[in-house]
Order: sequence, then structure tokens, then C-alpha cells
Amino acid sequence: MLFAKGPAVRTDAEIAVMRRAGAVVAEMHERIREAIRPGVTTGALDRIGREVLARRGATSNFLGYSNPPFPAVICASPNSMVVHGIPTDEVVLHDGDIVSIDCGAIVDGWHGDAAFTAPVGTVAPEVLAMIDAAERSLDAAIEAMVPGARLGDIGHAVESVATAAGLSVVEGFTGHGIGRAMHEPPNVPNQGAAGTGVKLRAGNVLAVEPMVVLGDPEVELLDDDWSVVTASGDWAAHVEHTIAITADGPQVLTRP
Ligand code: MG
Ligand code: MG
Repeated sequence: MLFAKGPAVRTDAEIAVMRRAGAVVAEMHERIREAIRPGVTTGALDRIGREVLARRGATSNFLGYSNPPFPAVICASPNSMVVHGIPTDEVVLHDGDIVSIDCGAIVDGWHGDAAFTAPVGTVAPEVLAMIDAAERSLDAAIEAMVPGARLGDIGHAVESVATAAGLSVVEGFTGHGIGRAMHEPPNVPNQGAAGTGVKLRAGNVLAVEPMVVLGDPEVELLDDDWSVVTASGDWAAHVEHTIAITADGPQVLTRP
């Protein structure tokens, strides 16, 4: 296959279905964001995600994923947890915390995947600045996603914004192609050199997901085989969108 190394190329009709999956993810985000406040448990946030999926006739691409099977429809990762936190009724969010919520949906066999980090109550200014910079790093990456750009342009955009804000970028975790499966080739790194890597074409759909730390970016895996935390205890933010590259420019499929 001539184009085997690049991400799959989707038709407009396929992207339209992915947009419907993305709309479900966007509503999960909206409902969960509204519920984030001191005293709420991450288990309660997971139930909100399940309610949205059921009401909209979508299924979860998180529940049962991999081995050990992920037991929930959202990942909820507070404070120094970077990604893949398992929501439970034992994890209570407190004033001054932050929490990263990652979730996805499948509609008619097509996938959406997105994440945000939110403050819980009143949060320290430098922590809010980290969340803001994580979002700006994702915005910069999205802006770079035009036909003819290269994969390295995405990582370069994320890394440039994050490091300019004094943050470090987590290594060893990346975004990904997305379509009929949540995780498809290629990996989409959050670091890299502009002008390097495979050339991107109209119809490519990628999940881009910066993971940044206010401090030391070294991470470790907890005994539950899912939760990824910073080794230092420094706090982290994780944001993600599913984005289609089109002739008219980047289209974020996981926005309302
Ligand atoms: Mg995700
Ligand atoms: Mg993802």
C-alpha cells in the first residue's frame, strides 16, 4: 500500500458520522463539567457519562478497554494523576483540586475521544495558568493541522506553547489516529521538530492530547495497572480533541 505509513483517509460522510460521536463526547464533557465541585466523587461523574451515552444511544470505547479491562466510561485523574484514573465513589474532589476527565463514544461504529482539565472550587493561580497553557498548546496544534503539514508540526506546536509557559511535557504518552477504532496509527507525539514526519492529508482524523506538568514530567504506573501519576507528585493537566484535517482547515469533531 502506497500510503500505508500515513493516517487513514476518511470520506466526508465518514467524518460526518465521527462528528456525531464527537457531539456525544462534547455533551459528556458539558454535563460532567457542570457537576465538578467540592464534595463530588469521580464515581458520580462516571455515572453522568453513562447517562449521556445511554440517552444518546451511543456506546463507550473506554468501558472494558484493554487488559485489565477498564471499568468505567470516563478516566478521572485528579492533581498529580496524569491520565487513566479509575473513577470510584471513594475518590472525593476537594476545593483547590483539579481533575482531568477523558472520555469517548462510539456511534455507528465510529469513535470520538476528548479530554479536559477543570478546577474544583478555587484553585491556585499557577495551576489555573497550567490548565490555560495546556488548552493553548492544543489550540496551537489544531491550527497546524492543515493538508500538507507534517506530524512533527503538531508535536512542535504543543511543546513550544507548553515550554514557553514553563511547563514540561510528559514523555511516553501520545495522541493517535482515530476512526473505526479509538486507537489507530499513527502515534501523535506532543514533542517534535517542525517539518518532520509523515505528511498529513485532507481526510486524516487524529486525536491530539497534550499532557503537561507543572514541574518534573517523570511518570509512574500505580498498582491498579491503569493510573499514571507523576513520580514527584507535581500536578498535571491533560486536554484532548478529535480533529479532522480538511481542505477547509482543521475541524474539531468533539466540540458542541
Ligand atoms: Mg482520550
Ligand atoms: Mg486519546
